[in-house]
Amino acid sequence: MRLGFGDTDPTGYTAITTARQVQDIDARTGDLGATKTASKRSPWNRKNPYRAQVLSNRCLSGPASAKEVRHFEIALDDSGISYEAGDGFGVRPVNDAVLVSAVIERLGVPADIAVHTKAGEITLEQALTTEYEIGIPSMDLIEAVAEHAGDAELDHVLQNGDRASFDAWIWGRDVVDVLDLDRSSTLDPAEFLGLLRPLQHRVYSISSSPTAHEGTVHLTVSTVRYRSAERDRGGVCSTYLADRVGDGNEAGVFLSPNKSFRLPSDDTPIIMIGPGTGVAPFRAFLHERRARGATGDNWLFFGDQHRSTDFLYADELAEFERDGLLTRLDLAFSRDQHEKIYVQHRMRESGQQLYGWLEAGAHLYVCGDAARMAKSVDEALHEIVAEHGGHSPDAAEDYVNELKRSKRYLRDVY
Ligand SMILES: Cc1cc2nc3c(=O)[nH]c(=O)nc-3n(C[C@H](O)[C@H](O)[C@H](O)COP(=O)(O)OP(=O)(O)OC[C@H]3O[C@@H](n4cnc5c(N)ncnc54)[C@H](O)[C@@H]3O)c2cc1C
Repeated sequence: MRLGFGDTDPTGYTAITTARQVQDIDARTGDLGATKTASKRSPWNRKNPYRAQVLSNRCLSGPASAKEVRHFEIALDDSGISYEAGDGFGVRPVNDAVLVSAVIERLGVPADIAVHTKAGEITLEQALTTEYEIGIPSMDLIEAVAEHAGDAELDHVLQNGDRASFDAWIWGRDVVDVLDLDRSSTLDPAEFLGLLRPLQHRVYSISSSPTAHEGTVHLTVSTVRYRSAERDRGGVCSTYLADRVGDGNEAGVFLSPNKSFRLPSDDTPIIMIGPGTGVAPFRAFLHERRARGATGDNWLFFGDQHRSTDFLYADELAEFERDGLLTRLDLAFSRDQHEKIYVQHRMRESGQQLYGWLEAGAHLYVCGDAARMAKSVDEALHEIVAEHGGHSPDAAEDYVNELKRSKRYLRDVY
């Protein structure tokens, strides 16, 4: 039985991040003609990415960190791509050779067997490397395998039709896991490829400023790595960037404009809330404001697990604080003390000042985790407005809605 959510959308049924990402493709990419920004229209798009040289790929997080966050610098060279602080960048990944081999082994056919794809007649190995999504399994594949697998848990999830249980079931599973549900299955390569989705690009917030870092785009990427069912696994694009694109190699990229996430006029104060990789566009904003000599005050809330290992761009932020560009830097390292402290706690601690900044016309930006952080920050904002503005909950809601309407409360969350 088919689940009723977005199964015709190439990724619409998957976890929040992926679903959101696909929405963003439509909303942001120049290639679909929806957006027209001050950034020049780029000839490059998800179907025709620019082959850019990766100039630098270095780890920002410390060796003892539970996370691996990397900084990339990508050359724009003769691409003609021009961007603004706040824009995103699309990256077309290449699948991991180990996963490709595992899939071919399950199919039990030679890797060099010829197959027909949109890219022409190529080997099965090539097709699985560059053309098809083998990380996150497609609904078509899951349903085809489920028909004969007799897997009680999966049957229950599919019959139930409940999105949350399906998301929980698919979380962490790849195409090999799905094929393993029915070891007796004999899908021929053409039939199998017909069940897969095309390999999707991923979007990243640009962390550089076009004025300060001319000719390059910087990205701040958290590498997705986990172990499940005795196999080490990784996110397709973040491990592609981390492991398979060394310095000097090329990657397919294109601009993903975000015209609704822009700096205000140079004299307007801004409040930026960007824990983890959410700091990316705010690094871009700060560099841009410094390069332009913008006079508006800048307040950044940053947080992560530990100060010693996860304080991304600590040196740069300290310098911005010293030279007065950063009016305030509030930090929340959740695991450096017994009780967990997050950015929303820091916001509440300085609620009166934060409300004062809003009253003085500040624009408030949030970037990073959509599932928990953005929700908690939104709750904190409502509480701050109610408490320090002397508003009822309804009036606080109206105040925040007005911020949104006037484009002074902007979010880039994923
Ligand atoms: C507008 C926008 C801006 C973004 N900006 C940034 C940015 O600046 N920096 C950044 O790092 N990311 C950013 N992202 C997220 C980014 O686009 C990718 O979604 C992210 O890098 C993961 O992609 P991937 O290909 O590595 O993983 P995928 O191949 O997409 O794999 C993700 C899947 O891995 C599995 N998985 C992940 N973690 C675990 C776990 N711990 N245990 C079990 N299973 C797990 C789940 O099944 C999950 O669905 C942004 C997204 C959007 C939409």
